[in-house]
Amino acid sequence: MFDFYEKELDKFGHEPVIFPMVIPESNFQVEKDHVEGFTPEVFWIERAGDEILEERLALRPTSETAMYPLYSLWVRSWRDLPLKLYQSGSVFRYEGKSTRPFLRGREFIWIESHNVFQTMEEAIDQTREDMQIAYNVMTDVFGIPIIYFQRPEWDKFAGAVHTFAADTLMPDGKFLQLPSTHLLGSNFAEAFNITYTDQNGDEKIAYQTCYGPAISRIFGGMIAVHGDNNGLIFPFDVAPKQVVIIPIPKKKEIKHIEEYCKEIEKILINEGYRVKIDLSDNRPGDKYYFWEMKGVPLRLEIGNKEVREKKITIFRRDTREKRTISFDDLVNTIAEFGTVLTTNIRNKAQKRFDKSITVAETLDELEEKVNDKKMCKIPWCSIDLDGEECAMEIKDQLAATVRGRDMREIDKGIIPKKGEKCFICGKDAACYVYVGKQY
Ligand SMILES: [Zn+2]
Repeated sequence: MFDFYEKELDKFGHEPVIFPMVIPESNFQVEKDHVEGFTPEVFWIERAGDEILEERLALRPTSETAMYPLYSLWVRSWRDLPLKLYQSGSVFRYEGKSTRPFLRGREFIWIESHNVFQTMEEAIDQTREDMQIAYNVMTDVFGIPIIYFQRPEWDKFAGAVHTFAADTLMPDGKFLQLPSTHLLGSNFAEAFNITYTDQNGDEKIAYQTCYGPAISRIFGGMIAVHGDNNGLIFPFDVAPKQVVIIPIPKKKEIKHIEEYCKEIEKILINEGYRVKIDLSDNRPGDKYYFWEMKGVPLRLEIGNKEVREKKITIFRRDTREKRTISFDDLVNTIAEFGTVLTTNIRNKAQKRFDKSITVAETLDELEEKVNDKKMCKIPWCSIDLDGEECAMEIKDQLAATVRGRDMREIDKGIIPKKGEKCFICGKDAACYVYVGKQY
């Protein structure tokens, strides 16, 4: 999963870096809103051995304050821009109450990209590029349907001008926030003194963005979105094992069968696939069950008949269909089935996602639908701070949250018709927002 994301970032001109995991408190304190937003979640290192440190070190909750002091040294002239760097690693946040495996942990693994530009327009373009990268990887490769929302003002990243976040819907009808990209404007550049000399020799403030796909959370989302009652289902390209080979021996012919299995394994490994032969003592039926649960996309079943006829029986995890092919068609069939499987589970997930989007016209209707695992589009007064009170009301009454404006609607200029009202405060609606339960 990291590979796919990193390759995509590389393709769009980002470069990898590694920064320290700890941040001196004085760096951490520089941007006011950021400090305020993150302070309740920071783990501090206060001691080394028996000594109390002169300055506390934050275990990074995110790396703006680790990276930007150096950005202020690295960025001198317009020739140094754009600066587009990313790092892959862990961050730590004290999630007080409820942690959940993969979805909300006190340590999570992610990629964070931090970028610097000459103008606000370029920074805005970068947030668009980040959204495109999310669709290319999250949806095309991982098969996870998403919508990008502009988050309401009361729900943005601490220190950002705007936050744009992708949400998917889990099978239990709750939103899961996936990668978000933040337009930082010049907030951090001013705090960290990131300036450049422009083409005319004038000193200018820089503009920034940051983007943070949390791989552990995406992994959790991927498991939930694709799995079924028999266990995990992985998209072919990211399955830890893509093909499992199961010998089905009859006493005398074990050796032939194993040799044939190994021949197949060798061919597939040479093709670059991740393959496993299960030579354990378990019965074939138990092996089937085990590897299905683990989400291996394709299973090859090899018995006497297959060896004798130079054939291979293939089982697909998603549709549970079996087909017998000739040995010579092995390589082509694996490639074809892999692609078809990924497309199939992606389409299935997308269909379910699309079906769960609906509208509501009253608070009662909204309540009924969010309780029925739906995300609802409703007319809304404002995603500026003016709308926060209405959002609080929805939270109190329905335990649901306002996710923001759909970026596709912003692009198309879709706004409510005259006469449509926010049905919390009764004011004229300025936009549509999506509401639902969340993780
Ligand atoms: Zn309102």
